Amino acid sequence: MQTMRTTCPYCGVGCGVLATPDGRGGLAIAGDPAHPANRGRLCVKGSALGETVTHRGRLLAPHIHGREAGWGEGLDLVAQRFSRTIAEHGPDSVAFYVSGQLLTEDYYVANKLMKGFIGSGNIDTNSRLCMSSSVAGHKRAFGTDTVPGLYEDLELADTVVLVGSNLAWCHPVLYQRLAAAREERGTRIVVIDPRRTATCDIADLHLALAPGSDAALFNLLLAEIARRGMTDRDFAAHLEGFDKALATARETPPSTTGLTHSQLQQFFDLWLGSEKVVTVYSQGVNQSDSGTDKVNAILNCHLATGRIGGAGMGPFSVTGQPNAMGGREVGGLANMLACHLEIENPVHRQAVGAFWNAPRMAQQPGLKAVDMFRAVEEGRIKALWIICTNPAVSMPEADRVARAIAGCDFVVVSDIMAQTDTTRLAHVLLPATGWGEKDGTVTNSERRISRQRRTLPPAGQARDDWRILAAVAARMGWAEAFAWDNPAQIFAEYAALSGVAGDLGSDFDISAHAGITSAEYDALRPFLWPQSARRQGGRFFGDGRFHTPSGRGHLVAVTPRLPSAISDKFPYRLNTGRVRDHWHTMTRTGLSPRLSRHLAEPFLELHPDDATRLGVAPASLAEVSSPHGRAILRVLVTDRVARGHPFAPIHWTGETAPSGRIDALVAGVTDPVSGQPASKSAAVAIRPF
Ligand code: SF4
Repeated sequence: MQTMRTTCPYCGVGCGVLATPDGRGGLAIAGDPAHPANRGRLCVKGSALGETVTHRGRLLAPHIHGREAGWGEGLDLVAQRFSRTIAEHGPDSVAFYVSGQLLTEDYYVANKLMKGFIGSGNIDTNSRLCMSSSVAGHKRAFGTDTVPGLYEDLELADTVVLVGSNLAWCHPVLYQRLAAAREERGTRIVVIDPRRTATCDIADLHLALAPGSDAALFNLLLAEIARRGMTDRDFAAHLEGFDKALATARETPPSTTGLTHSQLQQFFDLWLGSEKVVTVYSQGVNQSDSGTDKVNAILNCHLATGRIGGAGMGPFSVTGQPNAMGGREVGGLANMLACHLEIENPVHRQAVGAFWNAPRMAQQPGLKAVDMFRAVEEGRIKALWIICTNPAVSMPEADRVARAIAGCDFVVVSDIMAQTDTTRLAHVLLPATGWGEKDGTVTNSERRISRQRRTLPPAGQARDDWRILAAVAARMGWAEAFAWDNPAQIFAEYAALSGVAGDLGSDFDISAHAGITSAEYDALRPFLWPQSARRQGGRFFGDGRFHTPSGRGHLVAVTPRLPSAISDKFPYRLNTGRVRDHWHTMTRTGLSPRLSRHLAEPFLELHPDDATRLGVAPASLAEVSSPHGRAILRVLVTDRVARGHPFAPIHWTGETAPSGRIDALVAGVTDPVSGQPASKSAAVAIRPF
């Protein structure tokens, strides 16, 4: 049996996987020693991939209103209903809601169809829920959404600071690389997290700061940088906004963080003790109604000290999904165009429209995820296509979102699974190929593009997402523009578009692949962009060149905002997150009994004092409620969490544990800059069940 080099479909580390068909329909799995992201390592989720390629639960044929239908009938109906809705109500009456698990080629086709041919910006992605505050923060500071550093910087750093990131469970192989570096060279590690997570096991310092006070902490660090005279005067010539950012930072009361003077000094000493410091951040920073400000407070400190773009230094946003980065590169967010071009820039719109020979380019950003489902609820979106994601579970106010989808005139869902909380609401269900069955590319958190390769035949009648989208586009009258035979041709077109973007000043550059053949695409090795040599060792901004209008890096003045106050009625601030062995809504990991052995049911971590006050016994059940929903959870009494700040994981769905849908509790409030929902926390009440 031939072994295929492919890429893990879970987190943004993007590990290389060797997949060998076992002759019984399954796969033998090993880490790819040649892949730079993991060098042969895999975490338990990646190792169990072979157990998840079963056809159990798969959607094997198109369905219309619950009855099995042929592909022709299903595609005709989708094209007719979308065309009719657009003709009657205009292009902004339809929307696509897509996913950071789509391959770049799928994303490219969906984006081209919506923004270039339907003529609306209404395509957004579940990556909005994951890292859009990092995108917005990068753009404010650098003028472009570009991660400056590389994974190896975590190994080259003297100090690594992890903010709102349980790397041990959420990016396990990156954690393994960091832990190994710590063993070899004594890397000092700081974990900033209200909860004592597994990542704290290797921390020299754990700062259990007040929830949501990350921006205050980094403001205090900026003020300390100035007080100690540790700004980089040479690099400052490449910056703007420093004085205002510093003046605002100096107004931050240290008490905001809930940390002692001694803890703050330890943090300052560690962060400032070596030039080689990397600050890694994730959902604890992004999933907030002030997430973009938190990101910029972190970036401010790296810019002020010039600790960016060099080996072993820089801010580092790690993405949750396998292709969140590819999605933002290819324009999968409602407020972007492909290749880091701006939808609000008329020159960029014109250039992309001309490249696509598009009949009707979107003229403005579309609706971001939370606003998109509000528009569905209000009947402004009348035809919705949900691709490769489960918003009836994962969106904030998930019950309300499920009701909105149920009330929409026409809902198409493309998925690999037959029964999910969202597929149940579809008028038309289209079976998609899953990991192991499809071909394409993904980009990991360090800007490395890798191939996912087809190893198994499609399940039943499943088709690749790009093929489904292209077939609908053809039926809507645009066959010529969507006439690809294989994903290599789509990748080549995308690469050519990056050349157009490069001419307009974009830093996203894969144009060397514009003429790629199918054979070259099949053989494509993982590569970092940009491929141009001028960037220092594959890193950005160390040369002081930024993409802002002035060409300078921008420090943003940040006035910290804490999460909205809890009330007497909902007096606990629930912290949400992931567990080690499951991923998202468990569609795949839930198929492996081995992965459920770690934590088998939804649970609530509760501080012992809270448990006593509430009269909730260990291992009993508790009802957790918010103004938006209700869950029944098994109680784990533990001092890992602080008083008043319980924790619950996000993974369980109506299919797997009807009472464990945590995002049903979360309010749909968003960051005003990025539109990212504050999914990390919810004000809740708790009582014995
Ligand atoms: Fe997959 Fe992430 Fe685990 Fe790597 S670390 S094997 S990408 S889940």
